[in-house]
Amino acid sequence: MLEGILKSRGHQIVKSVDEAQVVIIDTCGFIESAKRESIEEILDFVNYKKNHKFFLCVKGCLVQRYPEQLRSQIPEVDAWYGVLPPSKIADALERKLPFVVTQPQVTYDETARVCHGSFAYVKIADGCNRNCSFCAIPYFKGDFRSRNIETIETEVKNLVKNGVREIILVAQDTTAYGIDLYGKPSLDVLLKRLNSVDGEFKIRVLYLHPDHIDEKIIEAISSLEKLIPYFDMPVQHGSDRILKKMGRFRTSSELLEIVEKIRSANPDSAIRTSIIVGFPTEADDDFEDLLQFLGKAKFDRLGAFIYSDEEGTPASLIQEKVPLHIAQERYEQLLVFQSQISYERLRRFIGRTLTVLVEERQKQKYVGRSHLDAPEIDGNVFVNRSVKMKIPGYYNVRITDVSEYDMEGVLV
Ligand code: SF4
Repeated sequence: MLEGILKSRGHQIVKSVDEAQVVIIDTCGFIESAKRESIEEILDFVNYKKNHKFFLCVKGCLVQRYPEQLRSQIPEVDAWYGVLPPSKIADALERKLPFVVTQPQVTYDETARVCHGSFAYVKIADGCNRNCSFCAIPYFKGDFRSRNIETIETEVKNLVKNGVREIILVAQDTTAYGIDLYGKPSLDVLLKRLNSVDGEFKIRVLYLHPDHIDEKIIEAISSLEKLIPYFDMPVQHGSDRILKKMGRFRTSSELLEIVEKIRSANPDSAIRTSIIVGFPTEADDDFEDLLQFLGKAKFDRLGAFIYSDEEGTPASLIQEKVPLHIAQERYEQLLVFQSQISYERLRRFIGRTLTVLVEERQKQKYVGRSHLDAPEIDGNVFVNRSVKMKIPGYYNVRITDVSEYDMEGVLV
């Protein structure tokens, strides 16, 4: 969106940093690893700046979270901007303002969206009002604010008109969509509306809060024609004691019931989850409960993280921490445990035909994604290059082989 606004004001987007007069780094301040990655990126550019002349601007969540610390510790950066609407960032850049951090603000300009690829993320809301004890997002992203259905629809129509084939709806918690605007959770209403937009495209929804997924959401994602049957449901743990300490409401058996409901609505649905290991007080028994839970839930996809203290959160105040080497051991054990489950889940597709969004041509193969694969976090489908395919495009692919994460197939 910022790119679209800058272009509409006559600025040029260049391919190489050597040609740039302004460099903008977007940051994330969510968890330790994301913060570290953002800082490394900033320092790389600070280093590069020693021999190149450009205006270096850093923006986003990390700046919103640590404005003064960053400004005093990395004085080489020319401008720091917090969570601001893209138009305000463009204004500040044009005036070369050195520092703009206010209460987090988000506004959208659905007409200014520029998209280069086969898929596009569409933010349907921002901020969060939940109280997960390990998470600092509500402190620096502000209250949950939904966009109205009309602006989201306009943005989706524009993206589809520009060739986007997969729309990926995101928010800190997509299940809460509309609660602030329409007085009740309205994700299902939004999905029905987007499902009726014309064009050859599909819709994937990420970040469904497991405590708030309900029948209406399951029904919409499982049955609407353009919806990808993919449920990204970050449960975070499988021990009831730890779930409670995390500020989650559903117990492990209630979460298993949700998994069951999703699979009875459509047995081929893909379910992805995230797990935090090493949460304060996590004992061997809790970890055992977690493995047992995962063994029953049999998630198709799983991302795992080692717990890290986020200052200001209730979890960071719990004294009984899990030593890092134990958390690391559990993390590795969990990944090995899950890899067999993921493999078994994918194996059931061998011999079957899946719809695949083919996005890339390589020397020997085409590369695409099935309904089981969100970009950047899941696997791929590799298709033999026997026939020339137009990319991006949806194709029917018969699966011939699988590994834990990827599949191989032939064009049908
Ligand atoms: S719902 Fe997500 S963003 Fe909100 S507090 Fe929980 S983990 Fe953080």
